[in-house]
Amino acid sequence: MKKLVHALTAACLLCVFIALPACNTTSSSSSSKSQLWEREMGAIADVAVNPNEANKELNLKVDLIEKGKYGRRLFRKLDPKFITIHSTQNYTGDAYAHAKALKRGALRGGVCGYLCWHFTVQDDTVIQHIPTDERGEHADFDGPGNTYSIGIEMCEHKGNNQLATMDRTAKLAASLMYHHNIPIENIRAHYHWPREGYDTPNKNCPHFLMENGQPGGTWRWFVGRINRHHQKLVKYDAQIREQEEKRKEEERRKRMVYQFIDRIGNRVTQWIGLS
Ligand SMILES: [Zn+2]
Repeated sequence: MKKLVHALTAACLLCVFIALPACNTTSSSSSSKSQLWEREMGAIADVAVNPNEANKELNLKVDLIEKGKYGRRLFRKLDPKFITIHSTQNYTGDAYAHAKALKRGALRGGVCGYLCWHFTVQDDTVIQHIPTDERGEHADFDGPGNTYSIGIEMCEHKGNNQLATMDRTAKLAASLMYHHNIPIENIRAHYHWPREGYDTPNKNCPHFLMENGQPGGTWRWFVGRINRHHQKLVKYDAQIREQEEKRKEEERRKRMVYQFIDRIGNRVTQWIGLS
């Protein structure tokens, strides 16, 4: 009987341990929307990717606002510490239309009188509007969102593939993290930067990555994808470092063998009286 009780207790404990991880995976860390998108976009392979090759994949077009004009009217240096993600909520304009609008000063607002941000992403391309060392006007007037962050807008025009746009944006953010040494916790939704004087200071932006107007499981899922893309770039560096260490170690061993041969040679020479 005692043995039976022990066996039943062990079986119960086993069930609890098996059930625990299953509970964790269905916690609030993901949303049904993000689970569907993850399936459609596919997992990000855990492989090393050369950061230069990753940059080429972005299909980046540099089409800057003229220096000294409109959104670049005032030069204000940016030392980027954050990356801010937005979505355009413009259902007719693609990335090229936004580039044109910024270049002719058609979007008014912000502290300098003209809106501007660094990159606009659509499904097949990225367009850069201002250099990453210049401050934009996209988030929170004179707040930290504008003062310390690179602004990225995701397109929402009709016919644009939303998943491809999110994937390209995640790759762009990963590349910017890598080149500007920005940590993953400094990836922010526009929501995170309150706008002083507004009835709703925290904007529901990028709205399709928010839950009830706030960051939740879908936002965390998106940041997770940025992180995985970034890991691929970091992994490449680690592999290069490892190869370099191996090369140095091989050279050290070769040197030791040559020194040993030299010593033996000298002794033989001395022994047969040639020196
Ligand atoms: Zn926004």
